[in-house]
Amino acid sequence: MRRIQVTLSFAGLAVLAVLIGFAPASANAIEPDRHVLIIGIDGCRPDAIQAADAPNLKKLAADGAVTWDGFAGGVLGTPTRQNTASLASWNTILRGVWANKHRAIQMKKGKPMPADRNYPSLFARIKQSDPKAVCASICNWIWINGQPMLPEADYKINGQGDAGVVDLLTKYLADKDPTAVFIHFDEVDHAGHANGFDPRLPTYKTAVETADKHVGEVLDAVKKRKNYAQEKWLIICVTDHGGINKGHGGDSPEERTVFLIANGPGVKPGGVSPGPGLVAVTPTALKFLGVPIKPEWKLDGQPFGLGD
Ligand SMILES: [Zn+2]
Repeated sequence: MRRIQVTLSFAGLAVLAVLIGFAPASANAIEPDRHVLIIGIDGCRPDAIQAADAPNLKKLAADGAVTWDGFAGGVLGTPTRQNTASLASWNTILRGVWANKHRAIQMKKGKPMPADRNYPSLFARIKQSDPKAVCASICNWIWINGQPMLPEADYKINGQGDAGVVDLLTKYLADKDPTAVFIHFDEVDHAGHANGFDPRLPTYKTAVETADKHVGEVLDAVKKRKNYAQEKWLIICVTDHGGINKGHGGDSPEERTVFLIANGPGVKPGGVSPGPGLVAVTPTALKFLGVPIKPEWKLDGQPFGLGD
């Protein structure tokens, strides 16, 4: 009796496998040579990049599309207004919606508020579109992978400091073939909280310059890939908020103003002012990868810097 049941269930599985194999393709294969790398620099004021010796970020900006006056914190005076807090902002960057939708508004008793599953991350969108896509998240701040904000990541790991993030990414890019990678640097934000978020402060400016060196190391790691000459990489650089005095969370221009850079094939170079909100990041990555953006996802932003 037991044997019959087993046989039937194998037959059932076989039928299922055939059905899956011939399922109509809602999936949309991403061209294998296309890759996105999102470099997040926490708490990095745009005016500090401009004041600093930051050749790598400045070159990415000069050769790509850039805004120095994008915004965090939602649209003031509307339900999308949100704190310029890391949790709300990174969720907005990675989901493409403001916190009135994703609901991960702030840390509560030292733990992150969970995000609404109706607004999954860009990694989820990528993998729904192409189940073979590979996604990775390498972070300094533990609550991005620890919430997790990117549960669909195939590779999720936290680095020891920003240099640790670079090391892990360098090793990963040497022998893996990711479709999309998110990395997160936190030490500019640490410098701001310790001594002040202000480009005139040597501690803050030096932290931005160190982050810029890490960006250079990251770009080297991409360029050293075996098949780099045949690959198309979109590099997105963004921060989650600025800061004022030793903090952030409020609505001041110093806290709300962010930069956003997109650099890669198909990017229309030039400056954009006024810039878009943080919600532009997810649609930018999706468009570059050829993932069709569906109206029912209710994304709040438009792709940034990509030509038609
Ligand atoms: Zn932050």
